[in-house]
Amino acid sequence: MSEPTTDELLDEICRLKRELDKTPASTDMDEIGQYSVRDYQKEFGKWNDALREAGLEPNQPKKIPTDELLNEIQRLARKFHKVPTKKQMNDIGEYYGGSYQRRFGSWSEAIRQAGFEPNQQISESDFRNKPSVCQLCDSPTRKLDFHHWRYGSNKAGCYLCRDCHDQVHADGARPREDTDWLITAVENLIRAHRERGKKIDASTISERYNIPSENLVEHVIEKIGT
Ligand SMILES: [Zn+2]
Ligand SMILES: [Zn+2]
Repeated sequence: MSEPTTDELLDEICRLKRELDKTPASTDMDEIGQYSVRDYQKEFGKWNDALREAGLEPNQPKKIPTDELLNEIQRLARKFHKVPTKKQMNDIGEYYGGSYQRRFGSWSEAIRQAGFEPNQQISESDFRNKPSVCQLCDSPTRKLDFHHWRYGSNKAGCYLCRDCHDQVHADGARPREDTDWLITAVENLIRAHRERGKKIDASTISERYNIPSENLVEHVIEKIGT
């Protein structure tokens, strides 16, 4: 697919604005737009800058999900093979360094939560190969999120499409909202896995989704019954 032109990108923002009758959020573009937010980041830097370019007032800042903040650090790290600095985030990242400071206390802490050490050089092998399909529903998409089971220097997770990712975090299964979120998230995942007629087996499941504890998976399978 050829790269969309600047005009095409801006026209698509205007089209969404007419369709939704509001200034489109970046998530609207990812969900129903013709292009991905990444296309806009490449061309304009930040989504809000693209909106301004299209003659629209940026959206009110809303709380950015922690996963998304951390995914953006990982995206930049992958791109430059080096842990990004706060200034690089300000200059070329989707979010502002200040948002990280508010959420994590400091930029260095945000870096640690994203699974790196500050100022670390990063090799390609530090990342799991990004698959081209969602690991849960198998639908091919280039909009895959990295979902964390565990944060920090021994991070673990898997790639999910936006819908499946939301499903895993349903019922308040979010680290910020519930200290037992992990059990709920694993339960959500296994239910979704089962609904798709996939085999319920602890070792298969923990391997497929890179869940750090097979015992936890076994426990949840017992809990929900097969
Ligand atoms: Zn999916
Ligand atoms: Zn997640």
